[in-house]
Amino acid sequence: MRDNMAMKFEPIILPGIDQKRPLLISGPCSAETEDQVLATARQLAAAGVKIFRAGVWKPRTKPGSFEGVGSPALEWLKRVKTETGMYVITEVATEKHLHEAMKQGVDLLWIGARTTVNPFAVQELADALKGVDIPVFVKNPMSPDIELWVGAIERLYNAGIRRIGLIHRGFSSSEKAVYRNPPQWHIPIEMKRRFPSLPMLCDPSHMGGRRDMIRKLSQQAMDLNYVGLMIETHCCPDEAWSDKQQQITPEALKEVLKSLVIRDTVQTTEDLSVLRGQIDDVDYELLRLFSKRMRISREIGHYKLEHGMSILQTQRYDYILKDRASQGERMDMSSDFVKRVVEVIHSESVRQQMVVMEEVKGKKKRNSPNV
Ligand code: PEP
Ligand code: MN
Repeated sequence: MRDNMAMKFEPIILPGIDQKRPLLISGPCSAETEDQVLATARQLAAAGVKIFRAGVWKPRTKPGSFEGVGSPALEWLKRVKTETGMYVITEVATEKHLHEAMKQGVDLLWIGARTTVNPFAVQELADALKGVDIPVFVKNPMSPDIELWVGAIERLYNAGIRRIGLIHRGFSSSEKAVYRNPPQWHIPIEMKRRFPSLPMLCDPSHMGGRRDMIRKLSQQAMDLNYVGLMIETHCCPDEAWSDKQQQITPEALKEVLKSLVIRDTVQTTEDLSVLRGQIDDVDYELLRLFSKRMRISREIGHYKLEHGMSILQTQRYDYILKDRASQGERMDMSSDFVKRVVEVIHSESVRQQMVVMEEVKGKKKRNSPNV
């Protein structure tokens, strides 16, 4: 096992880009047409963006979705460079992508979440990168397994890559209620502890999966001392061929940037932000558990209906109240507080079961030959 703390990285310094936070990478999810790429790039350059992103090869969950234009789009990125002076970055997942991107003068690369999760793919890229001097950003793996992320960094490092950045884009989850990819802030925080010199960027677009979450997530990332942001922008977001709900216009990006409060990275603020990140995680977990509890309650509702039982089982409720209050006391909470919480949860469970009964009765009526 490598001692991560002993690994010596080099900073990613790009002439013409100052060290002010946030280091910004922006551009469309996918390069779709030459016009779309250039229109978006021109607006971003006018807004002061210095690094332009666009996906040329798109890893899509299902075949038949738009999988990127492929190599011809690299020509458009070249035009972006010459016309606007921006640096360009794209995602590579195979040796072939890498060679083509390098041949066409792409300045920086990123490895996507679906690639970081696969050690074979990362190793193939690392082998192909031997002797190549290019900064590589590594997105967190889809699954919340920090060791896969660490492993990808080690593979690149072993191949001689020293200019590496991290992009936190959230982790896949079956619960899509709040985030498309829940942040699980404790994972990037641990990653920063293990690799203190690697710049950490946040990708609020893939994390939230919704335009209206970009501002808040970007601010949270800044409060956690992230170096930068990768934000998806499109000249006509509603017409985007991929990830349209999460792309914003370059104009909207300007508003997000204007609204960001960049605080000094003094220790106390950092500590507070870390704690707040933990609170966000806990609240999210609580919501997930509430939702699970309600699902089970509805199942119980079906059972009661089938067995002719009434919804309210007073004895059981009485037991729950007493049991949870004393459990809570043992966990340093007041029994009064726990009782109030249980009451609210219980009344929502009862309501859910009533909904189940109404639904089932409604269905029976509709299916009855007399109606
Ligand atoms: C992307 O940046 O467009 C992308 C596919 O990202 P991720 O790998 O984070 O899903
Ligand atoms: Mn995308």
